[in-house]
Amino acid sequence: MLDAEIIAVGSELLTPGKLDTNSLFLTEQLNLLGVEVVKKSIVGDHRHRLAEAIRDALRSVSLVILTGGLGPTEDDVTRDAVASATSRPLVFDESIAASIAERFRRFNRVMAEINLRQAYLVEGAEILLNPRGTAPGQWLDHNGASILLLPGPPHELKPLFTEQCLPRLRQRLPPVSIRARMLRVAGMGESDLDALIAPVYTRYTNPSTTILAAAGEIHVHLRARCADEAEADALLDEVESQLAALLAERVYSRNGDSLEEVAGSLLLARNATLAVAESATGGLLAGRVTSVPGSSRYFRGGFLVYTDEMKTALLGVPASLIAEHSAVSEPVAAAMAERAAALTGATYALSVTGYAGPEGEPPGLFFIGVASPAGVEVRRLQLPGDRNRVRAFAAQMALDLLRRKLLAP
Ligand code: AMP
Ligand code: MG
Repeated sequence: MLDAEIIAVGSELLTPGKLDTNSLFLTEQLNLLGVEVVKKSIVGDHRHRLAEAIRDALRSVSLVILTGGLGPTEDDVTRDAVASATSRPLVFDESIAASIAERFRRFNRVMAEINLRQAYLVEGAEILLNPRGTAPGQWLDHNGASILLLPGPPHELKPLFTEQCLPRLRQRLPPVSIRARMLRVAGMGESDLDALIAPVYTRYTNPSTTILAAAGEIHVHLRARCADEAEADALLDEVESQLAALLAERVYSRNGDSLEEVAGSLLLARNATLAVAESATGGLLAGRVTSVPGSSRYFRGGFLVYTDEMKTALLGVPASLIAEHSAVSEPVAAAMAERAAALTGATYALSVTGYAGPEGEPPGLFFIGVASPAGVEVRRLQLPGDRNRVRAFAAQMALDLLRRKLLAP
């Protein structure tokens, strides 16, 4: 029962206006039990297509969860489809009929006859009580598989699953502990990273490894599934330490901390301070630095110098330097960082100048500088993506440059 398939039933879920959110909830719950969702699908309110989907699912997994299609109307076909896929009849259940009738009495409403369609059980199914709605869920054990028929409305499905299905699943499943780790990596591309660490992680299926790329950073997720926590942690330690050794200083955090938090902690630990001089990032860098609580202990301030004139007037970058090399150049980035450090008295200063695009030639060309007690250093970057992406990327690379400087001054 460690592999499951979810089938969301409802033609409305195949329109642009409605999302299947039930399967996200169910996947989260199942994963916590150590059950993996290996496939999910959405099927419209169509008896034969749904029966076919159920037959398919039963061929590959031992837990099939259906949500929706349990209402009283002609387009609610889940009961019929399960009956057809398992070659079982539908049987009328007096107790469900009585509780539906009682519910209508309680709300002072007249019950239309079609509501009794909800009183049919697939033969052999157990009732999953649904006090928040009229149609109960059903649990059917069939040829070694379990088929769950759950209501569509999320406010009915969630408590029903938690109250009625979780205890039954826990009883049948081996105890499991799922533990996760994340390495955050900066300063390398996704394919380079994969080439470096694949030889290690492909040797393990437990923990499983997933690599997710964001602007200027990559997250390596490890997930271990074991009988107990200690065993899962030991497996994670084993793989994480090998990956961390290969990636070395490119890993900036193993506990979820952001790059600005890590750089801030390093500044604090070294009793150092920071200033910034920004052109193309327009304050993004200072924004990130100051998003960290307590950043006033190390951040002195910055200069937002968008035009050539401001670079000269506020920072004192010589106009002749800009005229000779242009504002997007290594000497200007160096002068911006040096001047920001000198004017603020900060131990370190970062500078960013570049073409965010789409104008300017070539878009994505950036120079980021870092001034430190050891002197000034500039990196030339050709960044990919649109305006927002290259700006975010440049701020990220500047923070990473600072982090590396602080690690190896
Ligand atoms: P049903 O049980 O098919 O009559 O569904 C009743 C209502 O529940 C639908 O109109 C939707 O608003 C909601 N619903 C059904 N399935 C889903 C789903 N997979 N995710 C989110 N909402 C759903
Ligand atoms: Mg429906």
